[in-house]
Amino acid sequence: MCGILGYCAQEWDPSLAKFFGLQGFNLQHRGQENFGCTYSNGKKFNHFKDKGLVSQVFTRERRSEFDAIQPLIAIGQTRYATAGGTDAISAQPHWLTLLNGFYSNATNGDLPLLQKEIEDLEASGTILLSGNDGEVILKKILQSAHNDNGGDLVAGLKHLMETTPGAYSGCLMTLNELYLYRDPHGFRPLYYGRWRNAFVFASETCAFHERDAEIEREVYPGEVIVFDTNGIKKHHQVVTPKHSPQKCIFEPIYFARPDSQVYDTPKEVGSFRYQLGQQLAREKPVENAIVVPVPDSGRFSAVGYSTELGLPLRELFVRNPYIPRTFQIAGQANREDLVRLKFTVMRSLLERYRKVVIIDDSLVRSTTMRILITMIRDAAELCGVGKREIEIHIRLASPPIKGCCYYGIDTPESKELAAANQSIEDISKTIDATSLAYISLEGLDSVAAEFDDPANFCHACFTRAYPTPYQTRTR
Ligand code: SF4
Repeated sequence: MCGILGYCAQEWDPSLAKFFGLQGFNLQHRGQENFGCTYSNGKKFNHFKDKGLVSQVFTRERRSEFDAIQPLIAIGQTRYATAGGTDAISAQPHWLTLLNGFYSNATNGDLPLLQKEIEDLEASGTILLSGNDGEVILKKILQSAHNDNGGDLVAGLKHLMETTPGAYSGCLMTLNELYLYRDPHGFRPLYYGRWRNAFVFASETCAFHERDAEIEREVYPGEVIVFDTNGIKKHHQVVTPKHSPQKCIFEPIYFARPDSQVYDTPKEVGSFRYQLGQQLAREKPVENAIVVPVPDSGRFSAVGYSTELGLPLRELFVRNPYIPRTFQIAGQANREDLVRLKFTVMRSLLERYRKVVIIDDSLVRSTTMRILITMIRDAAELCGVGKREIEIHIRLASPPIKGCCYYGIDTPESKELAAANQSIEDISKTIDATSLAYISLEGLDSVAAEFDDPANFCHACFTRAYPTPYQTRTR
């Protein structure tokens, strides 16, 4: 998963650089492995990309270089790697200078037939520097535009969408034009709006809040929008989807920031999660317990759960904010160590309360939950309550995850997914819970219906009904 961001302005304004940096900070949750940027003032371009957070990569020196050319167009990407390595060459944006111009591209999402796309491109003589989706997409667009369509990039994007299944919300730039595009299924969000004299865009609306940018709307599935530095905007519905959109339901469940909108509704992700908690409480209540969120992923749903049942909400876990998201870390031993580093337990609560309901958004491998439960039982013993005296009920605000994602969320292969390989009862025993229960798929859809038609959401990781062809990818 990644975040893309940027702007296209009519004239340089020094505060654009700050606005761009703030967009990056506000999309940092979508990827922490790399940050990169390409920018142009209409005559000259420059670019950088590297390992690290926005604050580590967009250094004072790079900011000075950025300011020096007074860019009218800039695109950027915060990345976590699902395809290709984490080295700078696999980071985005990718760029290419041809005889007829300069091009740069960044995307959010994955190509489920990436290996086939790479082989096809290489067979046609295209040289690829990385195994990254964004580079494959850039080269497919340019190949079609220049070989078959007289350099027309909109035609190149149309060809991409007609021939390449997958999840890709992207931004493509030349020296003086910006193209925003979204695959015909619309898996990943992409918004645009206005700030001062600039068109601005981002994967999530939280990137616009800081400076009160005006959100116009999301880019529609199958649409290309072209902006230029004269302030002209042209819409092209290059592909009319024959199917309903397949927006990723995991964006509002887990990935997007709570203060972002979910796709084309004015409601925020936090309220979606709150309502999931309420629905979960109606379906799978626990009585006379304290409600405990797993920070930070379970927080909004825990508030909804406790409110619905009139139960007290308590913080049992303290989370160290400097430890990265654990499911992105390779290796079981590393992951377990990190969970223990990341959380500590408030023992004093266990002296007062003997029955807890832990709320989280999802259960992937079950590693984190198993260790949290062990930590609670160990803490109970240390404070003299006794390991087995605490009832620990687990409630999850998404249905069991049974399939890998091929569209940009870095879930592990099926063999590592708890619910793909074990019954709910067996998972409950494995993690040493008193009880374990998930929200139903129908319950999830009843909440989703308040935001959009549930048929417009992808549910493939719950149902394994994948909306496009895919190749199994070894991660
Ligand atoms: Fe989202 Fe799951 Fe579909 Fe992937 S498979 S796009 S995580 S809903």
